[in-house]
Amino acid sequence: MLKWFEYAGAKHLVSECVKVGGPLVNFFPLAYLRALAEEREWTGKPSCTQLLNGTRLAYLNILCDYADDPSGAVFKMIGMFGHSFIELEDDDLKCEMKVEVAGITGKLDCLELLADGTWGLTDHKTSGSYKVAMFLKGEEVEDWHYQSNFYRIGAERAGYHVTQMRIFNAVRDGKTSIARQRGIPDATYYIDVDFIDDEKITAYFGMKRDALLNHLDGFYISQKTVANMEDPEVRLGEVYKNAPTSCLGAECWNGRRCKGYCGVSEHCKAIGGNEFASSSRTKAPKKTKTPKPKGVSTTGKKDPELEGF
Ligand code: SF4
Repeated sequence: MLKWFEYAGAKHLVSECVKVGGPLVNFFPLAYLRALAEEREWTGKPSCTQLLNGTRLAYLNILCDYADDPSGAVFKMIGMFGHSFIELEDDDLKCEMKVEVAGITGKLDCLELLADGTWGLTDHKTSGSYKVAMFLKGEEVEDWHYQSNFYRIGAERAGYHVTQMRIFNAVRDGKTSIARQRGIPDATYYIDVDFIDDEKITAYFGMKRDALLNHLDGFYISQKTVANMEDPEVRLGEVYKNAPTSCLGAECWNGRRCKGYCGVSEHCKAIGGNEFASSSRTKAPKKTKTPKPKGVSTTGKKDPELEGF
C-alpha cells in the first residue's frame, strides 16, 4: 500500500502529509494530497485497470508498502479532476458506471445514446502526443483497446447495445511544436477503438486475474504456515518468494516504467529477474531536508512522453 510520499529525496508518511500543516503543505494543495492518498482497498476482487498492469506490479502494490512522488502523479490527478466534470447522469447519458465481468470489476467513463438508439462508449484520457501518435499508428497501446472492450462487455451484460467505442484524449502537450512534429496538431482527439472478440478479451483478463490470485494465494498460505510472519523481514521474504516473474515489456513500457515510474521498483529489484533493472538490492533514497518553495515548478520528474521516447 502507499505508505510514503517521496519528494525532493525525502520520504514522508502519507498519514502525516494529509493533515493540516503536514510536511508537504508548501508544495501541494491538501486536496491534491488527500485525493492521491485515496487508494482502492484490496477486496480480493481485481479491477480491470489493476490487471492491465504487469502481475508483479499488481502483486507488490497489494502486499508491500511503497512510496510515490506526488508531482509525478499530476496528470493522473488532472484526469481525475476532469472526470468530476463529466459525472453527469441522464436517460441518454450514463457516466462512471460500475461493471463486472468474470469476477473483475471496472468503472467505465461514459455511455451516451446514439441517434439510432444504440450506445456509444467513451473513455476519457489525458495522454501526451507521443502516445496519441502511437495509438493512431496502431502501435504500442494495445491496453487502450483491451480496456475499452472490457467496459463494452460489462455494459452489454448490463443491457446496453454498444455499437461505437471511442477514446476522447486531451493531449497534455497539445499545441506545442513537439506535438506538431509528431503529427498531432490539435489539443483533443476523439479516436475510434477496435471491437475485439469477447472471448479474446475475457481470456486475456481471466489469465491475468488467475495469475494475480494464484500468487497472492501462495503468499496467504505462507502467512498461515510460516513462523514469525509478524517479523517484517520474514514477511517481506515470503512476499518476495511468492512473487510473479517480472512484468512483460509492454506492461512496463519496455523498462521506462521501472526506471522512475513504478512505486514498487525497489522491491522488484530486490526480487530480481527484471531485465530492465539490476537484481541487487538498492539502498533507500538518502533522507534530505525538503527545500523551501520558491514559486518554481514542483514537478520532480520529466514526463516520459516529453522526453522523445
Ligand atoms: S519495476 Fe518494472 S518490472 Fe518491476 S514491478 Fe515495476 S513495472 Fe514491473
